[in-house]
Amino acid sequence: MREALIDATMMLICVHLRPIFMFTLSKRRFVQLAGLTIANRILPNWLWARPFSPPEDSGRKVIIVTFGGGVRYSETFSPEGLKNIPQLAKMRAEALFFKSCTNAGVLSHFNSTASIITGNWQRVDDFGFQPPASPTLFEYYRKQTGVGPLDAWVIATNKSFSTMGAGSEREWGLPFGANVVLPKQLLLEAVDDVVKKNPQHGVANRDNVLHQLEVILNEGYEGVGWTIFKAGRQLDHHVHNTLTRGLIGFINGPEAPTSGDELTFFITREVMREFGPRLILVNFWDMDVAHWGSYSLYLQAITRTDRLTGMLWEEIRSNPNYKDKTTLLVLPELGRDGDLNTSSNGFLNHRSGDPSCRNVWLLALGAGITRGETDRPIQHVDVTATAAALLGVKTGAVSGKPIREILNQAA
Ligand SMILES: [Zn+2]
Repeated sequence: MREALIDATMMLICVHLRPIFMFTLSKRRFVQLAGLTIANRILPNWLWARPFSPPEDSGRKVIIVTFGGGVRYSETFSPEGLKNIPQLAKMRAEALFFKSCTNAGVLSHFNSTASIITGNWQRVDDFGFQPPASPTLFEYYRKQTGVGPLDAWVIATNKSFSTMGAGSEREWGLPFGANVVLPKQLLLEAVDDVVKKNPQHGVANRDNVLHQLEVILNEGYEGVGWTIFKAGRQLDHHVHNTLTRGLIGFINGPEAPTSGDELTFFITREVMREFGPRLILVNFWDMDVAHWGSYSLYLQAITRTDRLTGMLWEEIRSNPNYKDKTTLLVLPELGRDGDLNTSSNGFLNHRSGDPSCRNVWLLALGAGITRGETDRPIQHVDVTATAAALLGVKTGAVSGKPIREILNQAA
């Protein structure tokens, strides 16, 4: 429940802003402005430190998408749920579909996702105040291959994921971890600051809003929303300008993000286009709005996540840096409670531990994988063992097993 407060914050901020901005700024336009001014900010300092060109032939890549925030089989791949996920339904025609993927761990968003990305069931703080207790896939990958920090990213809507990029074990840890970007938090922080600094008047002016956001932006990159590796040298204006142009174009274009997950998708796509990283975890989370009790908002979020996942797959198929060498793994990090004992309101929470909460699915696509499906049960912790094998690295002691059907097909 507590995690959903972030969505509430977003809503409250928007509601709160309405009396101030309603005469000059629509919500969409305001998000555009706010987004525009965080464009610089979502690019870390170290990006300026070197001229950048994506690796030409980087071998296999893996993108893991948590179709996330908690979603049940009944609203997705059940016969009655398919209408909510037209893109995933289409993708299944070229995917290996695992009908039974089980989360046997703690049913919080952080622990569930950390279990996926470490290969061990995690029991750390539910809200991300502790990093995962065992090394992450990012650390195995970076330490063994020697690839740099541009090659491993976590892009997350969930605010509590800032520690998701590396575990707490001493011989691994942050030097080998992933860049963690929380795009929605950057936006919320910017909006919040504007509201606080302009309590009564003087903000119903678009230029003033823009100016205020730029002031926030110029305060530095080290606020909420980033856990990054720093190199601290001089700016590379070409990289800066290229990315900023792309961001502004997107934010002001027809695809302008109006939800946390849309912003997360957009940043993911920019990172893919500009840096071509070989390993990415994308955390979608909007559908956790279900905690607030609106079934229709929950369904809307599922359909939006479906659309964004479809767009991500399109990007993989059309981007020469990813096409034919990327394995995409899509799975909900957890389900939600069943309706049997809760008067049809099971969707509200994910704490019962019943099958509706634990039993979800996994879709694997790309890089040689052809259509198929299996009842063989797999688990969330199998993802790290599988991805490590795809990337050609070894894991430490993990409880998950490589998913042989994927490895057998992967080109
Ligand atoms: Zn939740």
